[in-house]
Amino acid sequence: MFAKVIVDVPTYHVDRPFDYIIPAKWQGIIEIGSRVKVPFGRRPVLGFVIALTEETDVPTGKLKAITELLDIEPVLTPELLQLAAWLKHETICFEIDALQAMLPSALRAKYEKMIETLIPIEELSMELATNMKQGRMSYKVAEQANLLAEVKQGVRNGHLRITTKVSQRGKAKQVRYVTVGNLEQIEAAQTVTSTRAKKQHELLQWLAAHSEQQFLPSDIPASTAVLQEVIKAGAASFTQQEIYRDPFATAVDKTTALTLTTEQQQAKDRIVLHEAHTYLLHGITGSGKTEIYLQKIDQVLAEGQQAIMLVPEIALTPQMTERFRGRFGDRVAVMHSGLSSGEKFDEWRKIQQQEVQVVVGARSAIFAPFTNLGIIILDEEHEASYKQEDTPRYHTRDVAIWRSHMHQCPVILGSATPALESYARAVKGVYTLLTLSERAMQQSLPAVEVVDMRDELRSGNRSMFSRSLLTEMTASLARKEQIVLFLNRRGYSSFVMCRDCGTVVQCQNCDISLTYHRSQERLRCHYCGYEEAVPTTCPQCASERIRYFGTGTQKVEEELQKHFPTARVLRMDVDTTRKKGAHEEILSAFGCGEADILLGTQMIAKGLDFPNITVVGVLSADTSLHLPDFRASEKTFQLLTQVSGRAGRHDKEGRVVVQTYTPTHYAIELAQQQDYLPFYEQEMTHRRRAGYPPYFYIALVQVSHEDVLQAGHYAQLATNWLREQLPRIRIIGPTASAISRVQNRYRYQCLIKYKIEPNLIPVLHRLIAMYRADWQKQGVQLTVDLDPSMI
Ligand code: ADP
Ligand code: ZN
Ligand code: ZN
Repeated sequence: MFAKVIVDVPTYHVDRPFDYIIPAKWQGIIEIGSRVKVPFGRRPVLGFVIALTEETDVPTGKLKAITELLDIEPVLTPELLQLAAWLKHETICFEIDALQAMLPSALRAKYEKMIETLIPIEELSMELATNMKQGRMSYKVAEQANLLAEVKQGVRNGHLRITTKVSQRGKAKQVRYVTVGNLEQIEAAQTVTSTRAKKQHELLQWLAAHSEQQFLPSDIPASTAVLQEVIKAGAASFTQQEIYRDPFATAVDKTTALTLTTEQQQAKDRIVLHEAHTYLLHGITGSGKTEIYLQKIDQVLAEGQQAIMLVPEIALTPQMTERFRGRFGDRVAVMHSGLSSGEKFDEWRKIQQQEVQVVVGARSAIFAPFTNLGIIILDEEHEASYKQEDTPRYHTRDVAIWRSHMHQCPVILGSATPALESYARAVKGVYTLLTLSERAMQQSLPAVEVVDMRDELRSGNRSMFSRSLLTEMTASLARKEQIVLFLNRRGYSSFVMCRDCGTVVQCQNCDISLTYHRSQERLRCHYCGYEEAVPTTCPQCASERIRYFGTGTQKVEEELQKHFPTARVLRMDVDTTRKKGAHEEILSAFGCGEADILLGTQMIAKGLDFPNITVVGVLSADTSLHLPDFRASEKTFQLLTQVSGRAGRHDKEGRVVVQTYTPTHYAIELAQQQDYLPFYEQEMTHRRRAGYPPYFYIALVQVSHEDVLQAGHYAQLATNWLREQLPRIRIIGPTASAISRVQNRYRYQCLIKYKIEPNLIPVLHRLIAMYRADWQKQGVQLTVDLDPSMI
C-alpha cells in the first residue's frame, strides 16, 4: 500500500501529492486525513495523507517510506480534504496552505499524545495493561511496544481513547497550597519541636485548630521561615496544584426558547432542513435574528445533527457566546482569537470527538470537522472579516455554501445591512430572502440626528463635540443612563504635522503617515510597526511649530474629561484591548454600570446589548467615506446603522447623534433613516455605472518589489500578458496601489473586471506558475486575490 501525501513545503514544484510506502506496521492504521512525517529531499517534513493506493508510477528504487505517524485518528475528514483541493483551485493557493488553515494552530506546535483506557485495566490485553500507568500510556510507548494495531482496535471498540496534550511549557498555571496534617501528625510535631521555639508552637496550635484543611501560604498567620520549620516537623505540607484556565469561567443561566413574533415564526418556518439552500435573513438591529438562529439550531440538534454558528471576531463578545451556552450548555464549543492556543485546541478536540454539536466561532470555525452538519449560519454576513486576507484568500460565505452542498443542509446569512452581493442574489432568487422589519420587543428604532460640523465651526464651536451631542450627553448623565461614543477610525488617526510647512511625519518604510500615541509620546506605523519619538522640530523646515492633529480616542478622552469632569469613561481601542481578556473586562465593566461613557472604535459597533444605553454619538461619520475603496459608502452605511442600533434596545428610548462634514452624502442621509432598501438601490446604481460588484466580479493582481522600477516593470509584464490571454476582459492598470509602499516594497496592481469568464482561473494559475518559476527569483512578489475586499 502507498499513501499520497501533500508535504509541508510550499513551493510551486512541490504543490502536488507525493507517493510514499506505508510500512507494514502501519498498514490499515494510516488513514486519509492523517498527518505523517516523511523524508523529503534530505529532511523530514510534515505531510497530510490525502489518498491511499495500491499502485504507484514511481519506480521502487525511488520510493521512500513514511517515517512517523502523527495521528491514529485522522485530523481531517475526507470532506475537508476535498475542500482543500477546491480552495487550492478557487483561490489559487498551495494545497498545503489550505490544509493547514483548517487546523488549530496547536496542531502545528509540539504536542504529546496519550492513550487512555475507558474500561477497567484488568479487562485489557496483557500487553496493553503492562504498558499502562494509572490507566494511561504515551503514544510513543505504544509505538515502541508495537501496539498501534491493537490500540486502534481498542479505540474502535470504545475501550481506549486517544487524547492529545499540547505542550505549552511554562504556561500551565500552578498554585501552591499548604495542606495541614491531621491531629496526630500535629501532636507528633509538637513533641519534636523545642519548647523554646515559641513562634513555632503558636503556629502548631493554630494548625491544630485547622487540621486537614488547605490554605494559601499567604493566609497562614506566620512567617515563611516558621512555616517551613513546622513543615519539616511534619505538621503540614506544600501541595502543588495545577489549575486549568477555563475559557468559560463563569456559569451561565439556562434559557429557554422565547415565543416568536409572527415575523420571526414565518422566517423560521421557511428555512427547510436537509436541503442545500441559502437564505438571506435581513432583519433590522434588534429584530430577533439571534433567537431564530437559536431555535433553528435546536431543531437541527433534535435531528441528531450539528451546527456551525459564525460571528465576526469583534462581535464574538461574551454576551454573544453566553446566549448560545445558555441555550445549549456544554454542547457548545467556542473558538475565537481570545483563547490561548491550548484552549483553542481543546475546543477543536471537542468538535473532532463529536462531544459537542454546536460551534460558535469566528471565520476559521467554518472548517469545524463535523461530519453531520445540519445548518451553517453567518451572522453579520456583510462583515469584511469573513474574507481571509492571507492565503488561502477564501470568503467564508463561499466555503459555507460549498459545505452546505456536501451535507445537504441550509445556510443562513443574517444581517441588518446585507452585503450588496448577497442582497442582489436574494433579489434574483438565488438566495431566499427572509425579512424582519420590526424589533422583537416592538421598541422603535432610535431617532437619528445628523449634525453638520461645518455649521458648528461657523458658529464658533471648535470642540469635537457638537452642541446637540453635548446637550444629549448632559441629559443622559443627569438621568444616570449610559452613553456610547463611537470614533470612526478607519483611515483616520492622529498624526503629527508642521503648522508652518504642512509636512506630515511619514513612516520611513511605508508611504503612510505615522500615528501619534500619547501614552508613550511616540509615533508608530500601523503597517510595519516602525516607531520613533515625536520630533520637536520639523524634519523639513526645522520649525518648532510641529504638533499632533486629528482625533484619536485618547484625545477624545481628554476632551471628555474637560466637559464632564465627574463622568466615568471607559476607552476601548487597539491600545486598551491588547491584553488577553481586556475586551471582555471593559464590556462587562460597562455592562455592570461601572462607567457612564464607553468610548471606542469599530470594536464597539457590534453586539453591544445593554438596556441602559440611551445615547449614541458618532464623532466623525465621514472619515471612512473617502477611502480609495469602492465599498466605502457601503461600509459607512453599515457602520452607522450598526452603531445606531446600540441605542434604545430595551424599554428606554434611544437617541443617536451623527456628526459629519458631508451631511448630504446618500450613505449618511439614508443611514439616518435606517432604511436599507433605498440605500441598496442607490448604491447599485453607482456600482453599475462604475462597473463594480455585484455587476462585475473583480480580481486583483498585486506586484511588489524593493526597486520601484522593477515593481513597475513586472506589473506591466503581468498586465500585458493578462491582456493577451484574456482579450475580451477589461483589465485596468497597472497603477500604483493605494498605499504605494509598504515595508520598503513598492506596490503596483492591476484590476480585472469580468462577468463570466471560464478561462480566468486557469489563466491566473498560469500567471502564478510563471511568477513562481521565474519572477520570484528576481525579488518580485505577486499575489492574486479573487474578490478582494479593498482595492
Ligand atoms: P438581532 O440579532 O436581530 O439584533 P436579537 O436576537 O439580539 O436581535 O434580539 C434583540 C432583543 O430582543 C434581545 O434582547 C432578545 O432577547 C429579544 N427578543 C428576541 N426575540 C424575542 C421574542 N420573540 N420575544 C421577546 N423578546 C425577544
Ligand atoms: Zn515644517
Ligand atoms: Zn511603516
